[in-house]
Amino acid sequence: MAYIELNVLNNSASQLALGIDLGTTNSLAAVWRDGRPTVLRPEGKSALIPSVIHFPRDGAPIVGREARDHAVVDPKHTVFSIKRFMGRGLKDVAQELASLPYSATETERGLIQLEIHGKKYTPEELSALILMKVHDVACKALGGLETTNVVITVPAYFDDTQRQATRDAARLAGLDVLRIINEPTAASLAYGLDQRDKGNVVVFDLGGGTFDVTVLSIEDSVFRVLSTAGDTHLGGDDFDQKLASLARADVAAKHGPGIVDDPGFQQAVRMAAEHTKIALTTDPDADFHVHVPELRLNWRRRVTRAEFDALTRDLVERAMDACRRALSDAKLDPKTIDEVVLVGGSSRIPAVRARVAEFFGKTPHTELNPEEVVALGAAVQAHILIGGKRDMLLMDVTPLSLGLETMGGAVSKIIQRNSTIPCEATEGFTTYADNQTGIDFHIVQGERELAVDCRSLGRFKLTGIPPMPAGMARVSVKFHINADGVLTVGAREQSTGATARVEIQPMHGLTDAEVETMLLKSYEHAQEDFDARRVADLRTEIGIMVHATEKNMNAARAGLDKESVLDLEDAMAAAKAAAKAADVKQLQKARDEFERATMPLAALLMNNVASKALRGKSLGEV
Ligand code: ADP
Ligand code: MG
Repeated sequence: MAYIELNVLNNSASQLALGIDLGTTNSLAAVWRDGRPTVLRPEGKSALIPSVIHFPRDGAPIVGREARDHAVVDPKHTVFSIKRFMGRGLKDVAQELASLPYSATETERGLIQLEIHGKKYTPEELSALILMKVHDVACKALGGLETTNVVITVPAYFDDTQRQATRDAARLAGLDVLRIINEPTAASLAYGLDQRDKGNVVVFDLGGGTFDVTVLSIEDSVFRVLSTAGDTHLGGDDFDQKLASLARADVAAKHGPGIVDDPGFQQAVRMAAEHTKIALTTDPDADFHVHVPELRLNWRRRVTRAEFDALTRDLVERAMDACRRALSDAKLDPKTIDEVVLVGGSSRIPAVRARVAEFFGKTPHTELNPEEVVALGAAVQAHILIGGKRDMLLMDVTPLSLGLETMGGAVSKIIQRNSTIPCEATEGFTTYADNQTGIDFHIVQGERELAVDCRSLGRFKLTGIPPMPAGMARVSVKFHINADGVLTVGAREQSTGATARVEIQPMHGLTDAEVETMLLKSYEHAQEDFDARRVADLRTEIGIMVHATEKNMNAARAGLDKESVLDLEDAMAAAKAAAKAADVKQLQKARDEFERATMPLAALLMNNVASKALRGKSLGEV
């Protein structure tokens, strides 16, 4: 799976764009501020917005923490883990649907709809509600600054339909998706791993309900997904369930089996278990307290970390099995992994950290908050996309061709559009006039055939070419685009070694829309452009022929018959006249006529050169 980043920059400091981690369990947004990505959080509160929606009987749906609190009392009207259903059909997710308290149907297009209070909602609509909440919280945290530009992350294994569903959700929420990027790529970006020249990275993401492990390779700031593995039913919830089962068994024994089937009890146990689990991440033992006033239940127990580790060891081992699969698919072994990144709230569990460090034989990255790292990376990408810069740009193809204006205003394309970067290409040029000691180069970007229709990127001059006849100088021009997207154009004259160089940031100032317009124009004008280019080329050719002929007119008069000389003079005059007009056919005809008329002169000059070379040598030496 190649990861293609097309970077088109627009330098507008006033622009803002959010990075959004639309998670199965939690969602949040981050933005680039003061030279680094920052998570947007309501004052004094956690940035995490539970990806939970509660539908009250009357009134608007509630999203986030408050919705999650309703889950205990009203599980039938509270939606969790909607990300699992994005872009999926009923049969894809039959297993998960079975455990849900609401009914699901399928649309004609085979997409899932959940029924709540007799109303049907697609996962896209539900995710849109979460995105609107995230956007709302983010804009408030930005002090009222508004932007609808977003980069949204998805798991690396998401297929096209799932990615499209994510885009659609954003559209429904009124957001403009600059790009959908992979969660592991985002996490790597947050750690600045794109700034490595080369390396293999493992992103270990243990979230609330899912586990994803991704092996990425980085080369010249381009990320490639080498393999993904994981378990769509392994996450923090399973750790909670292990603790919950302790409580269930005990409560059933003490209060009878009926109570443990109560949905309110189940929710309360789950939340209490999560609380205990989180406490055990920092403390060696913790209180496990289930309180359901409606059932007059008040149960508690102490749990030690060692007890918790023993209960959940098999879960950790399942994650390690997936790591083994991912490595084997990528044909790598743990020793060849340069960086390990921990992502997801559950990667905080001390036993998980210890096991990952042991397995890969290195300390994983945990410097950034594992629940925020994906959003932070999305913010880095968002910042780059709206024209910000950091040391390294994540980019690997050129959006438009790059070339040089040639004589007559045509464009010689040197690097084609969509070339992967870094890349370079060299082309040879020569002088047009005798004793020409400098050449002006005009660098242009675009798909059109004439330089005037392309975007001018810059000009530079190569000087110091020794005086010599036209066409003798050998100048090679090299275009090089490095991984940062910086174009360097260098010219070198072969005989003297004279050089000139210029550095250009080719993508600055162009938006996606502008690139699109430029491409569309080049298609629209294809025939017109082709003709215009042909005119330019023919004029140049005629110019060169006129120049050469005039230079040798004396030789022609001395060595050719009168008729040939007259024919040549007529053809040259006709070609000069045609060059003033812009008719392709007329130009082509005049050029061909002219060429024909120069044949005797060419033959004469060849003979002269040959006889000059032979002069002073005896026949025997030839
Ligand atoms: P997702 O990517 O699925 O949306 P997150 O990365 O937000 O999920 O992780 C959520 C999970 O992390 C929950 O199961 C939560 O209980 C767990 N979690 C959060 N903090 C901790 C902690 N300190 N120790 C252990 N687990 C934690
Ligand atoms: Mg996540």
